[in-house]
Amino acid sequence: MSDGPDDERELIARAGRVRRLLLAGSSELNGLDPRATPGLPRNRPKDIDAKTWSRSEVGRLGQLLGARQERMFARAKAGVDRRRLLLVLQAVDCGGKDGTVRSVVGSMDPLGMHLKAFGPPTAEERAHHFLWRINNALPPAGYIGVFNRSHYEDVLAVRVKDLAPKSVWRRRYGEINSFEDALVNDGITIVKVMLHISYEEQAERLLARLDDPSKRWKFSPADLDDRDHWAEYQQAYGDVLDKCSAAAPWYVVPADRKWYRNWAVANLLLAHLDDMRPTYPEVDLAVDELRARLAGNQVRTDHAGPDNDPPEPPA
Ligand code: AMP
Ligand code: MG
Repeated sequence: MSDGPDDERELIARAGRVRRLLLAGSSELNGLDPRATPGLPRNRPKDIDAKTWSRSEVGRLGQLLGARQERMFARAKAGVDRRRLLLVLQAVDCGGKDGTVRSVVGSMDPLGMHLKAFGPPTAEERAHHFLWRINNALPPAGYIGVFNRSHYEDVLAVRVKDLAPKSVWRRRYGEINSFEDALVNDGITIVKVMLHISYEEQAERLLARLDDPSKRWKFSPADLDDRDHWAEYQQAYGDVLDKCSAAAPWYVVPADRKWYRNWAVANLLLAHLDDMRPTYPEVDLAVDELRARLAGNQVRTDHAGPDNDPPEPPA
């Protein structure tokens, strides 16, 4: 398949459709099938399996993502644009956050990425407002930030594990909305993605971690405690979708099929980055003069000059 401008337009149009379909299905979790594949093109080649197809499509999408990322980065470097994008990834354990980062975000230039994973808050973080550590981890101008977990843990884990009184976490929905509103006004495009897996799929992935000695390091017995509270987590996620979609909407991505998940998130990123329409900055350089100066300099690179002359041979 060619990668010409028609192809590019087609990929961007499709990314917009995938975004619309995902958005339409993201208002609540009830009845959302984690094995669904919204927006998947019907005319996929029949002779390659879904995994191979997805890998090659994510590669093509990655090229478009990378090109836009570079322009956004260049604009910030030139000081003409402070815009940035923040991908917020939330999921239960084994939901595929790390895999998404590797497969999708990995297609862009690591120099322009700003990655941050959030675990339980440290003593210092606990001494501050819950948004303090989030604010400190925001992507600088021109960067694409990725949050692997986020401020939403403060109304998910904190709520389900009873780490703060209800009066405290209940207030946080509003605080999160105001915070995100301010970020959006400051030029951050926030793309919030919840990777939605089934209870059964989580069991399979946890088991795979136990079975494979090279994956055992990822297994935490505490994950089973969280799994015991599955229904409460689903309820807490449902409330997040319901209460925190004002400043930036949530996209629930069905994630039992890893190949669909990667493809869908790549499409979501492309739809948002393309909306930003970054162009290379105008650069004010006296190009001809600089060329002439470079041409003059060439003599110095192949002639070392008096300081570097070889020492006189001993008499
Ligand atoms: P993992 O992503 O598997 O490395 O695990 C990180 C753990 O940190 C998860 O169990 C989260 O629930 C927990 N976590 C992240 N943020 C918070 C928070 N603000 N309060 C409590 N636990 C958190
Ligand atoms: Mg974990």
